[in-house]
Amino acid sequence: MRNMWEKWLGISVCIMVWAEFSILLTSCSSSSDTKRAAPVATQEPVQEIAKADAPETPPVKTLEELVKEYGDLPLIDSHNHDASGSRYRIAEDSWKQYGVDRVVLFGDVSEFSAINTDEVSWKAYQAEPERIIPFTSGINLLDKSGLDMAKANLEKGYFGIGEIAAASTFSPVLSKVEWKTQNPMDGILPQLYELAAKYKVPFLLHIDPPNGAPIAKLEEALDKYPDTTIIFGHGNAYNSPENLDALLQKHPNLYVDFFAGFTAFNPESSNKLEDFVPVMKKFPDKFMLSTDAGYGLPGGETQAIEGMYRLIDALGDRKLAQKIAHDNLYGLISRQPATRTQVDRIKKSDSQTGKTRNYKNLSKVEAGLILSGKEK
Ligand SMILES: [Zn+2]
Repeated sequence: MRNMWEKWLGISVCIMVWAEFSILLTSCSSSSDTKRAAPVATQEPVQEIAKADAPETPPVKTLEELVKEYGDLPLIDSHNHDASGSRYRIAEDSWKQYGVDRVVLFGDVSEFSAINTDEVSWKAYQAEPERIIPFTSGINLLDKSGLDMAKANLEKGYFGIGEIAAASTFSPVLSKVEWKTQNPMDGILPQLYELAAKYKVPFLLHIDPPNGAPIAKLEEALDKYPDTTIIFGHGNAYNSPENLDALLQKHPNLYVDFFAGFTAFNPESSNKLEDFVPVMKKFPDKFMLSTDAGYGLPGGETQAIEGMYRLIDALGDRKLAQKIAHDNLYGLISRQPATRTQVDRIKKSDSQTGKTRNYKNLSKVEAGLILSGKEK
């Protein structure tokens, strides 16, 4: 810091001396000299001063400019609570306006009311299976009945379990929910990890604080259930790139949902978006972007969408951006096979219409399109 300041002072003094010297030159020179001296002596320092005064960063792009620049990239919001209060109906306009192509949708988290919001996200999916990716969160993590609920929902066609309150001390909302566990190995979570592996669905965990005992338990879960894909929800919130780097280094079954709006706009973030770019480059297949429905941001979900675009801009690499904005999460969704329940339902309806198809390799994405009547 000090060195930079000294350097800056030095440059300023040089410019001032040069400027005064040039004024002196100009004013002192005879009219015949002026032609030669003036352009060089007066122009140069003025330009230098203008350059020194100008901010070093380029002008900030507006959301509209960012959408224009990157709107052709497919974009998934991998963590969105807009099933609560059916807010997705309002949010949909901005998804369309700002180029959010798909949304992982759930609502309330790890409490009784989440059973209802799971239903809302399912309904939204039935209406728009190409936009909505429903996850289930209405699971009692402290009772065996939660396993049956989770299994029924995965059979039905949900694409993931989450958001789940696996540990929460500081979140004003999740620290109080009735079904939260104490840590990522508590309650029925171990059995749920096995279930998630069986269905090849990702498991989206809320863990706060993102260090200490809860993270030690997360690591235990990742080691004990290597076939389970765990997504660290808003893993950048109150967390450092170094911590994420260390976790990703050790655990190939870990993914990170990056709530870009938090890092970009929440004054409580001690990092900038650029700080996370090196770890994203190091683990290009492990990050995904989310809005968390704009949680904690004055500009709400729209500002969170802007955060996603700012991160894409900060990456400066469209190939990497496509992975993080879309491919990494969509890979976890598209690899899921259709469930027995889905195949049975499709067979039943096909038998009525006389249609035949190959049922063996149906994916959950395809089954969902067929069963919602939106097959192309
Ligand atoms: Zn959330």
